Amino acid sequence: MLLDNLQSFKIVNLYKQLINTIKKKYPDISESELNQIQKAYELASLAHKDQKRLSGEPYIIHPLHVALYLAEMSMDPPTIIAGLLHDVIEDTIYNEEFIRNEFGDEVAKLVKAVTKISLVKKDTYKENLSELKSQEAAENLRLMLLATFEDIRVIIIKLADKLHNMQTIHYQKPHKIERIAKEVLDIYAPIAGRLGMYKIKSELEDLAFEALCPEEAKKIKEEIKQSKTELESFLKKVKKALYKRLEEMNIQAQIDSRVKHLYSVYTKIQKSNKTIKQIYDLRGIRIIVPEVNDCYAVLGIVHTLWKPLPGRFKDYIALPKPNGYQSLHTTVMAPDGKPLEIQIRTKEMNERAENGIAAHWLYKHGMDYKSVKGRLEWLQTLKQITQEFQNYAKNRLENSTEFLNTLKDELQPDEIYVFTPNADIITLPRGATVLDFAFKIHTDLGLRCKSALVNDRIVPLSTELKSGDKVEIITHPEPKPSPIWLKYVKSTRARQKIRAYFRKKEETEPVKETKEETPNKKIELKIKRKPTKNPKEVPIEVSGGIDVPVRYAGCCSPVPGDKIIGYITRGRGITIHRVDCSQLPKNQSEIERFIPVKWEGLTEVYPVAIEITAKDRQGLYLDLVQAITVTKTNILKAEADIPKDKNDIMKATFLVEIEHVDQLNEVLQSLSLVKDVIEAKRKS
Ligand code: MN
Repeated sequence: MLLDNLQSFKIVNLYKQLINTIKKKYPDISESELNQIQKAYELASLAHKDQKRLSGEPYIIHPLHVALYLAEMSMDPPTIIAGLLHDVIEDTIYNEEFIRNEFGDEVAKLVKAVTKISLVKKDTYKENLSELKSQEAAENLRLMLLATFEDIRVIIIKLADKLHNMQTIHYQKPHKIERIAKEVLDIYAPIAGRLGMYKIKSELEDLAFEALCPEEAKKIKEEIKQSKTELESFLKKVKKALYKRLEEMNIQAQIDSRVKHLYSVYTKIQKSNKTIKQIYDLRGIRIIVPEVNDCYAVLGIVHTLWKPLPGRFKDYIALPKPNGYQSLHTTVMAPDGKPLEIQIRTKEMNERAENGIAAHWLYKHGMDYKSVKGRLEWLQTLKQITQEFQNYAKNRLENSTEFLNTLKDELQPDEIYVFTPNADIITLPRGATVLDFAFKIHTDLGLRCKSALVNDRIVPLSTELKSGDKVEIITHPEPKPSPIWLKYVKSTRARQKIRAYFRKKEETEPVKETKEETPNKKIELKIKRKPTKNPKEVPIEVSGGIDVPVRYAGCCSPVPGDKIIGYITRGRGITIHRVDCSQLPKNQSEIERFIPVKWEGLTEVYPVAIEITAKDRQGLYLDLVQAITVTKTNILKAEADIPKDKNDIMKATFLVEIEHVDQLNEVLQSLSLVKDVIEAKRKS
């Protein structure tokens, strides 16, 4: 009973602390928002009522701590509410729909996304396979990325969650401690760092380090403690000298002395092979001033007081780090004859260095975190960070595609997420192709679609996309859709757009009847050829995986529908042959120069020579021409050998424009039906 009272007391206090922190960060927070926060707290208390942490404490302690960390990081009310509710969907009877009804879509989405990260882990984690551990961790990282792009606040909630879990990690079993701590060091702390959230980063690192290497951590702690008195009196002197000069110059400043955090001391020792006493930048001074100009003024003062060490000055104000970190860094020769690191920054810069781009964003835009400008800046920074993460994740994921695909299926059965070249995320139905992607981005992009690069490899438009693919569309200058596209698309929207295009085209330009003037008796006839590209320069329409020029082999003149293979030529890119082409090299050493290729959309025409053998007669030639034009096939050129004797054999060759092998077969069929024709075949 006494214990229960103590715990309720603790819970109530924690909640009070949360509300006070929120009011301090957001003095103008509305009553209704405070009511929502209280409601979230009450729901979480109810939902976790019968659950306990491993520590034996009531579960609600955990979400309360998470929410408190979020408030301390200046996060907005929806994030704090989601922090309170972050384990509700996963662990209790209240589902996403319930949260949506009670707290709205924004909060429901945040909670769902945080839950998603944890669920994948639980379902797929195999404790006895260490290889899978790192993959799982890396996949978690990728999932976080995917989630981030919709909302960075998901990651921030997850970091706060990890921070509290790390603080209570000693209640876990030893093998779990190792896994969790490693994951924090490998993934979560670096993520915090890349987001510029150095405060939570060093806290996570120290906790993980203490969990993983308790002996080393203890040793370093002791040593820091030993030199602390000496350190403190030294820093006091330095601060005094500085304050005096700053006052003379009329600069308002706050000077903090600091000792590096545990884990960074440890890595420093590991890297430099030095003892703690030899690491001078263990100690440091941070000067916080009101204005940017003051930073440079203070730098001048510092450098006149103490001699700067050459090569140690860094201006992160003029050249901020990619995550937005800004500060001046310099190292001077301190009065005790040893180096002293000094950081100079404004209050805003300091807030940002501690709480990262989230703080920067909120600091700049206040509660208006959804302002277009703020959002754009935000996305800009995130794109950079995300790309870094993706590269990092890719390196780790190199050989685990199958495993990942399974994970992705579990994650979202109906949807896939793919990236634009700018790393924007596009959601598509499962089974969607490159064409669906193009139409999803913009109708015009869809209509002008020629081919695509998926993960930097050229693929056909019919290629099905997977989550995580990076897709770039290659376009024609003008719209060139083909009716066959209707077979390629999965989404209704893309199908509608393609249909609409053809409907409109029929209305505006009715199909012309191809009536060619064909003179009766002519040995050679040239029909005006509609302007088309030189087929040898037809741009790539095939899949292959290498971004090089493609040409069609003259020996076998492949047309779409033919079984084809690519042959990598020296200096000329890829030549496309029919697989049954007699000219293909058969040499074993040449085999590796073959590359599989496939036909793409039918937007080009290809010249094909047709050879006809027939018993000559009056009017035969005209019949042949008609047999071809009836299939709506264009004749580019025609030649015939006229036999000297009557009833003798005539051979004629027609060069025709073919879009697809089916069309060719139709032409050949039509020709073979002409009276007296013995054979009509493709010329080889
Ligand atoms: Mn949690």
